[in-house]
This record gives sequence, structure tokens and C-alpha cells, in this order.
Amino acid sequence: MKKYSFVVSCIVFALSITGCTTNTLTHRSELSLVSDQEVITTSASQYKQFLSTNKVISPNSSSKDAAVVTKVSKRIIAAVQKYYADLGRTDELSDYSWEINTVVSNEANAWCMPGGKIVVYTGILPITQNEAALAVVIGHEVTHALAKHGKERMSQALLQQLGGQALSMAIANKPKETQALYGSAYGLGSQYGIMLPFSRQNEYEADKYGLVFTALAGYDPHEAINFWHRMEQMAGGQKPPEFASTHPSDANRIAQLQSVMDETVAKYYKPQH
Ligand SMILES: [Zn+2]
Repeated sequence: MKKYSFVVSCIVFALSITGCTTNTLTHRSELSLVSDQEVITTSASQYKQFLSTNKVISPNSSSKDAAVVTKVSKRIIAAVQKYYADLGRTDELSDYSWEINTVVSNEANAWCMPGGKIVVYTGILPITQNEAALAVVIGHEVTHALAKHGKERMSQALLQQLGGQALSMAIANKPKETQALYGSAYGLGSQYGIMLPFSRQNEYEADKYGLVFTALAGYDPHEAINFWHRMEQMAGGQKPPEFASTHPSDANRIAQLQSVMDETVAKYYKPQH
């Protein structure tokens, strides 16, 4: 955001529109100019559209790739449900209708849309190499959804581009722009020609809670370090678009992961095979 600091915009818009909400997972106040319901409904239709235009491996096939993606995703989802249940906040997941799909693509990518719509591209599997690292990736992506980072990016972009016009008016008057912003906020940017990268703060949050869900799912979170080292080795080559679009260098994120590793392991890790 160029013109306004986040805090100022929160104060200004809390007075006039939806304002800010405090996220259960991150405990951080986020700019929120779009309703959850709106985001989840739009996600569901965009997810459907994505699946219809990409090569999805049928869950009934004998594909080992799809099987491992489904297995690991289910364990991450169970970990998320446990985490929210322990907080007494299961109600927050009531709008979630989880879906897991594996897409055949050389692109090393993965994402999770609000409402729990997961996609893993086969191109990331040679880098994850094992279930624990795949759990790190899926945990990271699921955190973006739970932390409502896409909604935050979209809200910030709306604020910047539409100059504070109420969202309901923006959607009514500028459907193309709001739809494009939506797509870009959720990492489908290349389809829409613009990209709203997650911020450094968003990435750290996704890494941190992704690690928590990995541990809770019974996978060794230390594998996150190995995974990011493998990512680092890919530097210069094609990096996953979602990861590539982010600010923290691999070295910085490894240092940050290491700083929360011991606590995460002590608090959440119960090995499971
Ligand atoms: Zn990310």
C-alpha cells in the first residue's frame, strides 16, 4: 500500500465499511473489506473453473502422486481441525468444504483457496520428495487460506485501486476489476495478468503455522529446512510461482523456521507413520 499505512487504513475503514477483523490463527488484525461468505462462494466457483480447464488426476485412478497428495492433505486437514477444536473455534471451519486435487503440470506449485480448496501440481513432488516435506507445503498453503491472506491482499488492493469506494458499489460498478483482483489475490494471477504477491509477513505466518500443522499431522517439521534447502538449490531455475512471488529469501525463511522449530516440535510433534 503506497498511500496509507495498514493501521491508518484500518482505523479509517473500520468507521465506514467492514473494517478489520482479528484472525483466530494469527491473532493479527487484518483489513477486511470483503465478507468471508463472498470470498468462499467466489473461491468455490473459481476452483471449479480451474479444475475444468486443467488436467486433474482422478482420485479413483491408481496414480501414486494423487494418492500421496490425498493422504498428506487429509492429515493436514485433521491437524487443522484439531487445532481449531482445541481453541474451541470449530465453528470457524463450518464454511469449509475441503477438496483435494492433484493436477498434472510441470509447474512446481500448490495452493489452497478459502473454503479449503486444495490443489497440488505434480511438478512440486520432485522437490518435496517425501510426505513430511509435502506436508510442509500443504500446511503452508492451508495457512494462507485460514489466515485469510488472500482476503487481506484483495482488501488492500481494493483500497488502493478503488480509493475507498464501498466494496458493494465496486462489485456492482466494476465487476471485471473486482473479479481480476480476486483471482490475483489467490495466486491465479497469471490468468488475469496481474499478481498480488503475499507479503513477507504473510509468508512468515504461512511458514510458522504450516510448521505447526505439519507437526500436529505427525510429520517431522525439521523436513521443512531440508525442503527449503532443495528450493534454494533450484534458484535460477523455475521456482514455484506462489513461492517465487514472495519476498523472504530462502535463507531468511530457513532462519525464521529454525527460530520456531524447537518450540513447535516440543508443543505439537507426535511422530506418526
Ligand atoms: Zn506462501
